[in-house]
Amino acid sequence: MLIAIIAHDGKKAEMVQFLNENADILHKNEIELVSTGTTGTKVEKAGFKVEKMLSGPLGGDAQIASLVASGKCHMVIFFRDPLEKHPHEPDISMLMRLCDVHDVPLATNPSSASLLLKGVNFS
Ligand code: PGA
Repeated sequence: MLIAIIAHDGKKAEMVQFLNENADILHKNEIELVSTGTTGTKVEKAGFKVEKMLSGPLGGDAQIASLVASGKCHMVIFFRDPLEKHPHEPDISMLMRLCDVHDVPLATNPSSASLLLKGVNFS
């Protein structure tokens, strides 16, 4: 199972914390991670293996959207910062739209992401 992880700058620390808290579930279920560039760098520094796409503003969200559209990505965990503006908002909307088009689970905050991962762990 491939899960995409993306975190806006104000949420990157939360993403690392989230992954640390759920490391057992990731390992036990052989979950692979793909991420946008800067998120990936932070997550790697925390000791996780992750395939890095471009940074979000340079097209990383669009690359992950393409993985969703082609059925290669099975869940998206996207910790958005609702208090900031983002130059790549169209790419972010596209990614979220394609999750809905293809019925791919999408979590935009740690509580939702935690529930989704629990679902994977039970299945
Ligand atoms: P980043 O991109 O991980 O390269 O910061 C995230 C985003 O802003 O979509």
